[in-house]
Amino acid sequence: MDELLEQILKECHHYTKEGKLANYIPELAKANPDDFGIYIISSDGRSSRAGDCDKKFTIQSIVKPILLLQALMDNGTEVVRQHVGVEATGKPFDAINASDQTLLSDHLNPMVNMGAIAMCTLIHGETYEEKFQRLLELTRKLAGNPEICLDEAVYLSEKRTGSKNRALAYLLKTYGMIGDEVEDVLDCYFRACSIRVSCADLARIGYTLANHGKLPFTNESVFPVEFARYVNAILMTCGMYDGSGEFAIKVGVPAKSGVGGGIMAVVPTRMGIGIYSPALNAKGNSVAGIKALENLSQKLYLSIF
Ligand code: GLN
Repeated sequence: MDELLEQILKECHHYTKEGKLANYIPELAKANPDDFGIYIISSDGRSSRAGDCDKKFTIQSIVKPILLLQALMDNGTEVVRQHVGVEATGKPFDAINASDQTLLSDHLNPMVNMGAIAMCTLIHGETYEEKFQRLLELTRKLAGNPEICLDEAVYLSEKRTGSKNRALAYLLKTYGMIGDEVEDVLDCYFRACSIRVSCADLARIGYTLANHGKLPFTNESVFPVEFARYVNAILMTCGMYDGSGEFAIKVGVPAKSGVGGGIMAVVPTRMGIGIYSPALNAKGNSVAGIKALENLSQKLYLSIF
């Protein structure tokens, strides 16, 4: 398997030149666009790796499924569902153009920024510091890595420049969808996005989602199968943003991307995959990462369709 992964990285490496580093968060523009790594944990207990799989990068939007898990574990599906919708577009079947003058929870899903910002308010904790600590602990637990921590420079960089997310959060506040202080909620969101991980961490988290909520190797149950199904279903339809349909056709497994260059893929009952390649396409997804997953999916028949 290691050889297969080496071969795939080799075949796809030229795609790293086709993407661009995220620069709207200035600190992310310091990444090396040449980096490319992959790590896989399979249900037979083996792990396989190739390339720069030990490099650390910020989790960015791949924290969204973990935020969703924490919100589900703290509140159950009904409460979460009331606050954040589950539809890719949230628009009716005959919608021509979205010019709604109102914003409803059904217009959000947990994999877009507004949905994720709203989910920060659902995490239990007296303060936003405590809410973030609980999310960080869950991330460490799922990844089996107690050393996972915050990338302070990326966090401060996004906090300083995140005016679009501020606008989104104030809209949520205007429409009564969050009650707390906008800056407190955003601080938790920016920290969440700045958690530093490696491909191995993402593979382990992905494996737990593939394995009905049970950790690799120990089989300890962290969350019920019902939550794994909820999160995987939303990853399938919304995890790659407005590239989710094409990804479903070409790769065919639940996955989540982040603008740090990571992709976490979940192959139900079979494997968890972590990929890193920071050059992104226009939709904010790793170009070479997607190509590697397409290649791997074809070779190992990973598509669930
Ligand atoms: N922190 C980033 C943002 O809010 C996350 C986006 C992403 O990874 N797609 O813009």
